[in-house]
Amino acid sequence: MTSEHYEVLAVRYGTRQASAAEVFLNYHAYREPDRPLRMDYFFWVARGPARTVVVDTGFSPAGGASRGRTMLMDTEPALRAAGTAPDAVAQVVLTHAHYDHIGGLPVFTGAEVLMTRAEYDFWTGPMGRRGQFAHTTEASEIDCLRELRKAGRLTLTGRAHQIAPGIELTEVGGHTPGQAIVTVATRGGPVILASDAVHYYEELERDRPFSTVADLAAMYAAFDRIREMAAEPGARVVAGHDPLVAERFTGRAGSDDVIRFSS
Ligand SMILES: [Zn+2]
Repeated sequence: MTSEHYEVLAVRYGTRQASAAEVFLNYHAYREPDRPLRMDYFFWVARGPARTVVVDTGFSPAGGASRGRTMLMDTEPALRAAGTAPDAVAQVVLTHAHYDHIGGLPVFTGAEVLMTRAEYDFWTGPMGRRGQFAHTTEASEIDCLRELRKAGRLTLTGRAHQIAPGIELTEVGGHTPGQAIVTVATRGGPVILASDAVHYYEELERDRPFSTVADLAAMYAAFDRIREMAAEPGARVVAGHDPLVAERFTGRAGSDDVIRFSS
């Protein structure tokens, strides 16, 4: 019954040039020279025989432009590049409420939207408006979440939630108070969409936390949890912002904007 399998796609819709000192927390502690590091921006699509589920939505043109990010594709063209369209999407899962994950939400006019209750409560509460938190979100986009909730289209989940047969959400926290990861069953084994619990593989492989962090101990614990999940046969971890996603899974260090995990 729960043997539903999906094709998973990582869609690269944006990019920017960053550096190691910008992306790793207290990078000076490693006593290494700074180095350029590209940051790619993705959302993810899980397509099965019965439904298509989208995980995150990308930033809005305004949200990206005000931060100097390069948008390669707006949400709708990016969905088309992945062979789907907003009205074909049954559910949209938001791993967290940062601008580069929820900005494309308005194109999904019919889908059920899901996110963790911890994440929603934080960003709609007073602490989410404090400077060091607020700059990672757009106030209008947080309002959009409130409106969806009022309209009965936003489902708030607990720490573990089955989105659909073969698609599980797990709240790990760390990067944001209710940061979630999403595991999708494919024929070849589980694909773990780590989103911003792991921006770069280096976080997981060298135990290096990311610079934007709500709870450092929870971020380390999330690394442990994801390593455990990754030990399952056939499991693949998909990092949230790493250009290595293309390199590792297509064998090309190039410019593929749609990366497939089908088997
Ligand atoms: Zn984030």
